[in-house]
Amino acid sequence: MMTRKNIKRNGLLFLAIFFFLISCKNADQKQKGIIKKEEHTLAILPFTGVDSILLRKIKEGLQSKLSVKITQLPSAILPGHAFYKPRQRYIADSLLSFLGKTNNGRFEKIIGITTKDISTRKDPHENWGIFGLGSCPGEACVISSFRAGRNKVPGKDFFRRMVTLALHEVGHTYGLQHCPVSNCLMKDAEGKMNLDDGDSYCGKCNSYLKGKGILSENNTSEK
Ligand SMILES: [Zn+2]
Ligand SMILES: [Zn+2]
Repeated sequence: MMTRKNIKRNGLLFLAIFFFLISCKNADQKQKGIIKKEEHTLAILPFTGVDSILLRKIKEGLQSKLSVKITQLPSAILPGHAFYKPRQRYIADSLLSFLGKTNNGRFEKIIGITTKDISTRKDPHENWGIFGLGSCPGEACVISSFRAGRNKVPGKDFFRRMVTLALHEVGHTYGLQHCPVSNCLMKDAEGKMNLDDGDSYCGKCNSYLKGKGILSENNTSEK
């Protein structure tokens, strides 16, 4: 005969089994990768002078390849302390720390975009002009349109170069090193214009990013 106490006890037992089953199901789903993967976030910060078309092209280009949530931040003035007067350039390394401070941990990664010339130390060169710089791995990267040939090549080529450059620097922040594959976008520029050599990650770089879960599902970049 069921007593009141029994009913209460059976009820608790039922609840315990119910939660046990639920937690098993979650573990199972996790194993099968059914549960939504951790969301990756990327902030785009345009420095003063970057026009809205360039910004949109870069944003669309990144979004078509990467499975990251992109947020566009309000534009910022280039920090004066990063300016290298003798060559009229901004030190990219200083821009990276500025970007890190501005981000303040809000987004997983942050990319700054500028139209001004940027540089870094590259031995034996004290001040070496570059397309972009990214911490590897790290939080911040910066790209410059100064050397990408705006008004020298057709607009569509200029925008493609800038997207390739953005993917290259973002790739560094996820830990991708320079790649020896000649048409991989992670190839080292080595002081030359290499932004026309390939606008995709090679198979190896592709699988690396896929493993990190930041490659878009419809990405068809294997070459
Ligand atoms: Zn690089
Ligand atoms: Zn590669």
